[in-house]
Amino acid sequence: MSLVHLLLFAGLVIAASSSSSPGSRLILREIADQKDKAVELNTTNFDSVLKDTPAKYAVVEFFAHWCPACRNYKPHYEKVARLFNGPDAIHPGIVLMTRVDCAMKTNTKLCDKFSVSHYPMLFWGPPTKFVSGSWEPKKDKSDILVIDDGRTADRLLNWINKQIGSSYGLDDQKFENEHALSNITDYNQISQAVYDVEEATAEAFDIILAHKAIKSSETSASFIRFIQLLAAHHLSRRCRKGAAEILVNYDDLCPSGNCSYEKSGGNDTLGNFPICGKDVPRGYYMFCRGSKNDTRGFSCGLWVLMHSLSVRIEDGESHFAFTAICDFVNNFFMCDECRLHFNDMCLRVKTPFKKARDFVLWVWSTHNKVNERLMKDEASLGTADPKFPKIIWPPKELCPLCYLSSNQKSIEWDHNHVYMFLKNNYGPKLNSLYKEKSVSGGKEETVSATEDLTVATNALVVPIGAALAIAIASCAFGALACYWRTQQKNRKYYFHLST
Ligand code: FAD
Repeated sequence: MSLVHLLLFAGLVIAASSSSSPGSRLILREIADQKDKAVELNTTNFDSVLKDTPAKYAVVEFFAHWCPACRNYKPHYEKVARLFNGPDAIHPGIVLMTRVDCAMKTNTKLCDKFSVSHYPMLFWGPPTKFVSGSWEPKKDKSDILVIDDGRTADRLLNWINKQIGSSYGLDDQKFENEHALSNITDYNQISQAVYDVEEATAEAFDIILAHKAIKSSETSASFIRFIQLLAAHHLSRRCRKGAAEILVNYDDLCPSGNCSYEKSGGNDTLGNFPICGKDVPRGYYMFCRGSKNDTRGFSCGLWVLMHSLSVRIEDGESHFAFTAICDFVNNFFMCDECRLHFNDMCLRVKTPFKKARDFVLWVWSTHNKVNERLMKDEASLGTADPKFPKIIWPPKELCPLCYLSSNQKSIEWDHNHVYMFLKNNYGPKLNSLYKEKSVSGGKEETVSATEDLTVATNALVVPIGAALAIAIASCAFGALACYWRTQQKNRKYYFHLST
């Protein structure tokens, strides 16, 4: 492995480390668990929560806890907040409802920035516009608006409906929602799946911890391969960072394949290395949210993760990625029927993949084979999610050009168009909502994961291949981790010598 590649990898790890979001998702999750649905903000978490929210819009209520009118207003505000906030939200991912207590001295500056003149005072705008933002009454043009007609829950919701052209009602029930044409409209919602990919990654990791599933050198190798793939090509920077950290520390976390899994057992345990950072999983899915509590969710997120990885790899990595995914499902997907069937399909691949395109299409057709089988099973057992019945994907409505011809019995695909469609759907389209802050040259700027991905791809294409080759010769867990561990150990050693 050349020095250049090692430096590029080091660059990735450092760049990834700079993107931490201090606890904002954790706050969202914790608040969501409480009775109040509106998220309590203060000077410390205001920017990070609003920066991180997947919601398109935010409402910020400035109030004072001593103000009787605010106390009376709270049930109205909460009625609306329950529609949009928390794991049981009826319309998740659209509006984040928050409040700031201006009577707290620590919040004075924040309330001043928004020229809060009375309580309660409500503002509306895209969450990012609130970040480091301000509002002045005399300024003509602002992305932040004062909600001038929100005195009751009804009026507030009407005001919101007018802004976003929706027709939400206070009595809307869970899942009686906008997913009616789900399998078709979900194409337009794929950007929300970026959060589900993080969620599924973290959930998969938690399952491995809970089952103490790294049990042999074989499962250990399989785990490492998958983590390598994630470190290089996960679409979320924080997951790439978490995966890289696990790789670097692997021989301390799992000496001779004996991992310690405890979450409170000191630094050298896998449990202390949350793969996508400590704020994920958040406890709910968005794009992969089922219309029943026991449908979709994790397994949907896992598919999206697999497709999103497949469109990000280079030709030279395609067979490595195939092996990493097959082994991962076989060893760590704790659904027996699923992994047995999937393993069967993996075993049918006799010639190593040479082209990334072939691998993308393999994941797609494999997924469709599962869909086809489940369509029959679910129809006979009545277990389908009524809003998300299995279909052969993509349907014509989403990609007419993908179809050369079709009849009741078979479909003749145009594989070029299918490939282009998948590349776009699981590439830029999936990334379009995902903005992260990166620090470059001390200056904070917003980058999309797509831009960032270019760096990741270039940085790690060769190391993965090289890692494999060198890993076989020298290290059980891959050259990257080996190199980094050696460096760390040398550093520790020299440190001891010089003290
Ligand atoms: P999913 O099938 O999970 O798909 C998620 C999303 O991917 C869809 O909403 C759609 O937008 C998109 N999509 C659908 N098809 C394709 C495609 N061909 N290519 C690209 N994108 C597509 N369940 C079982 O009951 N038995 C099994 O044997 C089984 N095997 C599984 C094997 C694996 C590896 C995985 C990850 C899951 C398996 N499952 C199995 C679960 C099952 O496939 C679904 O994930 C689950 O039923 C939830 O379905 P869903 O409606 O959310 O859509």
